[in-house]
Amino acid sequence: MKRIRIADLFTQKPIGEVVNVKGWVRTKRGNKQVAFIALNDGTTIKNIQVVVDLATADEEQMKTITTGACLSVVGELVASQGGGQEIEIQCKEIEVYGTADPQTYPLQKKGHSMEYLREVAHLRPRTNTFGAVFRIRHNMAMAIHNFFHERGFYYFHTPLITASDCEGAGQMFQVTTMNLYDLKKDENGSIIYDNDFFGRQASLTVSGQLEAELAAMALGAVYTFGPTFRAENSNTPRHLAEFWMIEPEVAFNEIEDNMELAEDFIKYCVRWALDNCADDLQFLNDMFDKELLTRLRSVIDVEFKRLTYTEGISILEEAVAKGKKFEFPVFWGADLAAEHERYLVEEYFKRPVILTDYPKEIKSFYMKQNDDGKTVRAMDILFPKIGEIIGGSQREESYEKLAKRANEMGVPEKDIWWYLDTRRFGTAPHSGFGLGFERLLLFVTGMSNIRDVIPFPRTPRNAEF
Ligand code: ATP
Ligand code: MN
Repeated sequence: MKRIRIADLFTQKPIGEVVNVKGWVRTKRGNKQVAFIALNDGTTIKNIQVVVDLATADEEQMKTITTGACLSVVGELVASQGGGQEIEIQCKEIEVYGTADPQTYPLQKKGHSMEYLREVAHLRPRTNTFGAVFRIRHNMAMAIHNFFHERGFYYFHTPLITASDCEGAGQMFQVTTMNLYDLKKDENGSIIYDNDFFGRQASLTVSGQLEAELAAMALGAVYTFGPTFRAENSNTPRHLAEFWMIEPEVAFNEIEDNMELAEDFIKYCVRWALDNCADDLQFLNDMFDKELLTRLRSVIDVEFKRLTYTEGISILEEAVAKGKKFEFPVFWGADLAAEHERYLVEEYFKRPVILTDYPKEIKSFYMKQNDDGKTVRAMDILFPKIGEIIGGSQREESYEKLAKRANEMGVPEKDIWWYLDTRRFGTAPHSGFGLGFERLLLFVTGMSNIRDVIPFPRTPRNAEF
């Protein structure tokens, strides 16, 4: 007999038919006459209730059916007699694929803490919460590919191993096959990489942007979507050492086009979630964050507020003058902390904010320089609860300006000669941005810690599973 997915059972409702479902037991309860088994197969947040008549059931087998066990059930689908569910299965036959010893199965009771569930990350996808989060994660990945594909962008794969640390976006993880117990060093004590795998120092990438730019200068509009790595020792609810980033890069786009693309993109993703993940979002809304659905809907309705970094600093300085307390100081030239970003978004404008034209000192060498000599054509998108969700810019297309700025910022020309070549041969105005996939998921799911929107988080001192 062919198995039916529980999600399909709920949409098709083949009442009166004998069906076969397979899944894991969430709960078993009942009395002397009947047992009620809530079965879930991961296809939906909904459990199907299996009703077992104990007069005809195998008593020994019933004892082995406990929370976490895996079953195949055959029975007739009927309209439910009890409240709480629409349909249920009148059980005719059960096969137990795998038992789960109640003494040792780690997901016994409901309502485990998020901290505890991180310790059992190998099993947490079996909880309602993580089932919902990972289904949404999949749907967001689909939304992203669809968005770009519909607009004629090409999905371009950039390398994960790189020999240049020119992004300056964060501390890098080294990649080596050298024997760490026996490193060869020169007279200055510097490690000699000649005999290492790549014959030079290599690392895991912090961003695919530079390579994506090369592609944009040929294919027009491209995007990357892959893992990136940052060895930043920041134990925050918004940082991972391994996270996924989406980086579109578009020839002929100026900063305004870039802002429009980014705003359309986020709204498309949020709308996709509302359209395709309704049950899971409703669950997360009810369980964790009563404002979640309202917040998601409000983001697709409003126009993001655009202002310059300089204007943003004035607003923050005014707030401080009126007695607002921030942990980090506010002054022109300071990098904004999450508390500043969230003040602008949540308290001042009450909507997402796009901040542009940052001081060049706090931004990367490749950003297009403004005529004022002080600022660059950067744009960060700031979101409620998250702070920075997107970082982007128009790129410097002038070879002379770019080479000079790279030099000033200590990026060796020998490391980026290939990047500079795009400005020597057929350069063009172009723009792009990076969206942290897990930051988007934080927003869409309402989860409060980034460790809970990726299956197996990598953070300082944590690489289990
Ligand atoms: P932050 O100031 O929050 O550390 P950043 O300025 O280092 O961010 P970028 O280098 O501009 O970020 O990276 C682009 C995007 O990648 C960010 O807007 C954010 O969404 C995401 N991001 C950056 N660092 C991390 C991280 N460690 N973990 C998860 N996402 C990240
Ligand atoms: Mn960072």
